[in-house]
Amino acid sequence: MTFQMKYSIEQQYLPPQTLRRPATKNKGIIFIVAHDTGNDGSTAKANVSYFCNSANEIAASAHVFVDDHNIIECIPLNEKAYHVRYNVTTDNELYGCNANDNAIGVELCYSNKRGRIDNAEAYKRYVWYMAYLCDKFNLDPQKKISGHNELDPSRKTDPYKNAFQAMGISRQKFLADVEAELAYCRQLSNEDNKEDDVMKLQKWQKDLIVSGITEFGKLKGADGMPLINSPQAWIQKVNNGTLTVHDLAIINFAVTSRQVVK
Ligand SMILES: [Zn+2]
Repeated sequence: MTFQMKYSIEQQYLPPQTLRRPATKNKGIIFIVAHDTGNDGSTAKANVSYFCNSANEIAASAHVFVDDHNIIECIPLNEKAYHVRYNVTTDNELYGCNANDNAIGVELCYSNKRGRIDNAEAYKRYVWYMAYLCDKFNLDPQKKISGHNELDPSRKTDPYKNAFQAMGISRQKFLADVEAELAYCRQLSNEDNKEDDVMKLQKWQKDLIVSGITEFGKLKGADGMPLINSPQAWIQKVNNGTLTVHDLAIINFAVTSRQVVK
């Protein structure tokens, strides 16, 4: 299943081996932490460049900043970011791990009294990006997203008691929005797939394709690889009537490129 990429995601990584980005791998993604920057009016670009410029000043960071124009990943999603204190215990109780080891931290940029961020647009992108992560890491939005203030209630208000409160968005609405967006983007991409029709082949056409795949499967290309990998799998698709236009295009491309690419 694929996911509809409504928005583009930029990568602008902080310098590695710094306090903010030690460049150590995380232990796999188990949940997501919703944050807001707590910095009224500050954009995604401004936050990321501030993090870059102060990369060695403090071990505090987040993976992603989202505003009304940009979604910027500043720490690779397979690396640790320091976005929740290690000594809070709520993450261990809820998920059996520490947020910094097993969660992605996503910051919402917003305007309350300052700046010119369009909150509605920023929120749309934020919800979409959360859905994107839920798709990517196979997470249930209702169970695997925590607000920073839920994990560290004595010190933090973001996002439910800060940006979201100012925007009139409850926890319940936010999680429902992410869930709906996830379903919507998956459904859209399924509809795209429906356009990738199975080919209605006559017998002589099936025979032609099967014999072609059989022969190509025995030959090696300029890169030393067989012209077609797993020819039997393709032949099975032809014979049971599930070969698509897309499949045939891939087969064609593989055969052509492996004959010429060294
Ligand atoms: Zn936070």
